[in-house]
Amino acid sequence: MPIKTDALIIRENNRIGENDRLITALTRERGVLQASVRGARKITSRSGSGTSLLTYSTLTLTEGKNKWIVTDAKPQRVFFELRNEMSKVALAQYFCELAGVLAPREEPAEEALRLLLNALHFLSEGGREAALLKVTVEQRLLRLAGYCPDLNGCAVCGRPEGGMFLQPLRGTLLCTDHGSPSMDTLPLTAGAVAAWRYLTAAPEDKLFSVKLSEESLQSLAAASEYFLLSCLGRGFNTLDFYNSVK
Ligand SMILES: [Zn+2]
Repeated sequence: MPIKTDALIIRENNRIGENDRLITALTRERGVLQASVRGARKITSRSGSGTSLLTYSTLTLTEGKNKWIVTDAKPQRVFFELRNEMSKVALAQYFCELAGVLAPREEPAEEALRLLLNALHFLSEGGREAALLKVTVEQRLLRLAGYCPDLNGCAVCGRPEGGMFLQPLRGTLLCTDHGSPSMDTLPLTAGAVAAWRYLTAAPEDKLFSVKLSEESLQSLAAASEYFLLSCLGRGFNTLDFYNSVK
């Protein structure tokens, strides 16, 4: 039975054969999946335009022997504007790679899909700090996948307020009395701690309204990235590229 599902195309993989290619999509109904697109290289192929990277489409998928096959793709939104700015398209591709690793598979991925669509929307439109969008996507996808630091307070004395040091490998905080700058800690301003707490708990519709100072944003962005890489124990080519062009 074919299924119809909304999806963001998060990766265009290698071509298979003369006209076919493989895509990875973040779908509403079945999470992250790979599917082959028949005849994708033919310019006249309608499915071709709906299966390009960073396109949000309604896909019709048929289950093949070992994989899904895209039999129709109707584009709903193409994030074309992103392609005009190298740092924006680089960040968008990092979001996609991250979702490919952290979003659910074989089960509905409504929240992850909405998160990515909103982040790409704000990235395209401008008006939101790229660094803050990055932290938001990183921490929400991590939370969805079950990774969440203990942000309640200092791991030693429990103090909840003030600047803190993050221990990224443990996912815990230390207050300024119990922590100190070192190789194993990252400083967080009080504003950064508050924003991080907010980003892990806020309802989806309030997620992109955080405001914080440049200093707090910088400390939050550095800690978020370090924590993510520590949790996952791997790097991302798209992140390295983004950091080289931002
Ligand atoms: Zn303490």
